[in-house]
Amino acid sequence: MSAKIISGTEIRKQILEEIKAEVTEIKEKHGIVPGLVTILVGQNPASISYVTLKIKTANQLGFHEIQDDQSPDISEEDLLGLIDKYNNDDSIHGILVQLPLPKHIDEKKILNAIDPDKDVDGFHPVNVGRLMIGGDEVRFPPCTPAGIQEMIVRTGVETSGAEAVVVGRSNIVGKPIANMMLQKGPGANSTVTVVHTRTKDLAAHCKRADILIVAAGVPGLVKPEWIKPGACVIDVGVNRVGEKPSVKNPGRMVAILRGDVDFDAAKEIAGSITPVPGGVGPMTITMLMKNTLKALKMSAGIA
Ligand code: NAD
Repeated sequence: MSAKIISGTEIRKQILEEIKAEVTEIKEKHGIVPGLVTILVGQNPASISYVTLKIKTANQLGFHEIQDDQSPDISEEDLLGLIDKYNNDDSIHGILVQLPLPKHIDEKKILNAIDPDKDVDGFHPVNVGRLMIGGDEVRFPPCTPAGIQEMIVRTGVETSGAEAVVVGRSNIVGKPIANMMLQKGPGANSTVTVVHTRTKDLAAHCKRADILIVAAGVPGLVKPEWIKPGACVIDVGVNRVGEKPSVKNPGRMVAILRGDVDFDAAKEIAGSITPVPGGVGPMTITMLMKNTLKALKMSAGIA
């Protein structure tokens, strides 16, 4: 039987409706809205399209949104000054610095300068530490892992006692999602294994997984025969494998995207599975909005 397809596009819609309803209620009761600033240094095309989508989503939700574009020549000192300005701006609850930054700027120094209470990306060491501790300590779970967990929970997959295998150990996906799935609490309580490039027998670990989360960035890495029948498969990988003519904009080419899992074959074995595109992808910005709303509530003392 074919797997249930976990649609990030649909789940995104539900979550955005929930956020919008809460934003409207807070605005009516307290006269405040979430404020989000995105600092974009330079004109990296991938960054521009991501930032454009962020702005569109924030505007749809009724956020106060600032797009702060800076020249690629901005000095590290001036960028730090800009962050300091937004750290002290009460109308701003979330600060986002779009990566990558130009080579003359130390990314770590910039990210660490963001007030942890406004770090809606969840990359500041204080928030990474809070995530590790878990429970009430967690403020801003990083957006892609938070989206993954939300998809698993909203699909009704049992996580407690489940064997969760995470392929990849990056700081933005693999490590945080592994950490989140092993915490005590709803949507977690899993037995977690993290596998990576030095793992001896990748297939053997994947075959044990009730929940298989793949974030390697290698198209088709996970073979259908590695999937346990009935497993929940979350494919985080987004790989450009070619180009095709755009249907929406005739005359233009668009990227052909593939995940890290052989979707067509895997969906005949898995119990539920995310497609690429339309799976984890739409969740990241959604969870960024959720974190920004949380930042507003924290700063205003709204439960
Ligand atoms: P990364 O390159 O930082 O990390 C990849 C990890 O996978 C590494 O830890 C590496 O050890 C592991 N890995 C790579 N090849 C492997 C192999 N052959 N066997 C076992 N392990 C292997 O990547 P990342 O930033 O974590 O992103 C992973 C993928 O997820 C990429 O395709 C990226 O585009 C995608 N991604 C998607 C979203 C989204 O949809 N919102 C967000 C972030 C990342």
